[in-house]
Amino acid sequence: MSDPSHDPILALANITKTYNAGKPNQVEVLRGVDLSVTPGEIVALVAPSGAGKSTLLHIAGLLDTPDTGSVTLAGQNLTGQSDRKRTMARRADVGFIYQFHHLLPEFSALENIVLPQLSNGTAKNEATARARMLLERVGVASRASHRPAALSGGEQQRVAFCRALANAPRLLLADEPTGNLDPATSDQVFGALMALVRDTGLSALIATHNLELAARMDRTLRLDAGQLSDK
Ligand code: ADP
Repeated sequence: MSDPSHDPILALANITKTYNAGKPNQVEVLRGVDLSVTPGEIVALVAPSGAGKSTLLHIAGLLDTPDTGSVTLAGQNLTGQSDRKRTMARRADVGFIYQFHHLLPEFSALENIVLPQLSNGTAKNEATARARMLLERVGVASRASHRPAALSGGEQQRVAFCRALANAPRLLLADEPTGNLDPATSDQVFGALMALVRDTGLSALIATHNLELAARMDRTLRLDAGQLSDK
């Protein structure tokens, strides 16, 4: 019998995706991508701009569907499942981080982490305690009552990390999570993200251009000409 603790959190098999198929402006972005991320593993996805990183992350996070191939998340094969089932699986298991923080401007840092938990049915006192714990872990607890505009770029991104983890997902998908920050801040903020992911035992697939950041992860995959390699 297989040991569920070693089963992949994310498994992609033979994923293909072409935009504008059959038209003169056809773009064959993914040409048979296989990928698996095991529990607690942090995988770097490295590729030049335009190579299809966002497309791959959106397919892995059930925000987009591939033309062919299968997506299995936390043991559930979601290929061809209804939008409702895919949305439920995404809400339960996936956290997203983008290059821009996308925090709600009219709410405080704390509220930005509490709100997704309330939407998920968590009681307010429990949601607040978790939000404070997450802010503490990334070193911005003292900024809890600040709105995003009153935070530095690095602090905004740290809060966005906490929000992505608010509902305790099993898989984190990040698209250039420190790409908007200056190199010194990026280095520190990335360190905070790695510590947070390690502390919570999360699995992560993190797209980056930065080979130094990639080297701090467990494994690097390169996306080139629509295919992944570990070279
Ligand atoms: P990356 O994140 O690596 O920069 P993307 O996944 O955003 O790459 O895009 C990969 C390629 O697919 C690019 O050539 C882009 O122009 C094209 N593309 C992305 N989304 C669409 C779309 N909705 N329609 C047509 N082409 C698209």
